[in-house]
Amino acid sequence: MSVAAAMADLPGIEWLTDPALVRQKSRDFFWYSPVLRRQLNRVTGEAVAVPKDEREVADLLAAAWRHDVPVTARGAGTGNYGQAMPLRGGIVLDLSAMDRVLWTKPHAVRVQPGARLIDLDAATRAAVGGELRFHPSTKRTATIGGFVAGGSSGIGSVTWGTLREAGNILGLRVLTCEAEPRALELRGPEIQQVNHAYGTNGIITELEMPLAPAAEWIDLAAAFPTLMQAARFADAFTRLDGVVKKLACVVGAPIPQDHFRNLGAAVPAGHSVALLMVAAPFLDDVLPLLAPFGGALLRQVPTEEAEVPLYEHSWNHTTLQVLKTDRSVTYLQTLCPAPDHLARIAALEARFGDEVPLHLEFVRLGGEVCAFALQLVRFSGEERLAEIIAGVEAEGCPVFDPHAFTLEAGGMKRVDEAQLRFKRMTDPKGLLNPGKMAAWDDPEWRPGRPQAIHLFETNLPAPAEEPG
Ligand code: FAD
Repeated sequence: MSVAAAMADLPGIEWLTDPALVRQKSRDFFWYSPVLRRQLNRVTGEAVAVPKDEREVADLLAAAWRHDVPVTARGAGTGNYGQAMPLRGGIVLDLSAMDRVLWTKPHAVRVQPGARLIDLDAATRAAVGGELRFHPSTKRTATIGGFVAGGSSGIGSVTWGTLREAGNILGLRVLTCEAEPRALELRGPEIQQVNHAYGTNGIITELEMPLAPAAEWIDLAAAFPTLMQAARFADAFTRLDGVVKKLACVVGAPIPQDHFRNLGAAVPAGHSVALLMVAAPFLDDVLPLLAPFGGALLRQVPTEEAEVPLYEHSWNHTTLQVLKTDRSVTYLQTLCPAPDHLARIAALEARFGDEVPLHLEFVRLGGEVCAFALQLVRFSGEERLAEIIAGVEAEGCPVFDPHAFTLEAGGMKRVDEAQLRFKRMTDPKGLLNPGKMAAWDDPEWRPGRPQAIHLFETNLPAPAEEPG
């Protein structure tokens, strides 16, 4: 493999080669996990390419093929599973300069992958009065390509489910990594071959996303004497099908009091909170629902006017708010499946207590209401963390292990045959984000099987703003 030879073939592309900058662009939010921090802290690419259009991406992929160089795509680097980290070195493909909106229609937008979600929402609001159905809590920084390739759900999933639900991605244009890269247009069920594949089986150069009518969103926060009262309220709120809503988050005591700088002082001791986003015309239908569940309103403010919007206390931002003041905490990502999700939540609370404070996101999946738990974990060692994960799964709640960097171990713990087949066709040399699809490296992969992985590393110091 020769990165230098690939670079020499492509003098017209913008390259970044300063080792400190390359290392910075080789990192994401993997450090959320003490396990990934231990494993990946010294990983780096060797150069960063910043293409300005699809032609340059195709030229780069052809050069990577010729010189056997790994290529790891990158949007904004906010993934929290090490998705965008170039485990085997090579080229980091920074797509942030490809950020144009290509067209907008009343119910859909076509866009390049590097568009930031906040800019995309602003553009579609202005053009057609529409907005993305849902976005990650990193809306202000993350890109649409990175969300589809590396994320799953977020603010709006209370109504629309995850990116896996049919209709939540309308089209993807994907470049293959071959001697002569091809552009493939995927629609309908074919999209799942590339959705959440970490850029291991194609580089997305265009996305077509559905839009919902843009709303005037109101942040509502309410306190409840117990976590289960807040959870039952959030469940009932999610079932108000006539109410336009975007967020139904529950955070258990004492996390809001101890860690929510902008809200914590208002939360009574021992109380848990529900954080909601409701479209303004529907407030009269939501507010009366608080009292029957023991809830008291703490905040009601237009999302646009909030100093820190409530969505930046939800989804993976809850963990970030905690990490700002307590570096000893880590987290899990779990599904509490329907129809017993409330019973499972109660069981998790009883089993782990304050060692695993609960944070819940209520969603509608396949037409059914259920909850994701993004629990905080008071970290006391990797062995105990593994015991906790086993205990959560014993309560019937699958864990999408955020302490694992492969698609399979971090996901449903099974090989996605469709994504693997697609990779054989689109990336026959295995150059795209190598090391992330376990079944590519080890066809016998199964949960728990240790994976031999050699990393491309540096001894440069880690950027100062990250813990550890
Ligand atoms: P990156 O991190 O740069 O990339 C993500 C993955 O996509 C990588 O594997 C990368 O190789 C691949 N990729 C990027 N661009 C392309 C492309 N054009 N073609 C092919 N592959 C590509 N996730 C959620 O789903 N919901 C949330 O609410 C959420 N909240 C978060 C909050 C915080 C504080 C943090 C740190 C993370 C959160 N995440 C969430 C995870 C992450 O923010 C999302 O996955 C986000 O959408 C990633 O976007 P990005 O532009 O930063 O992508």
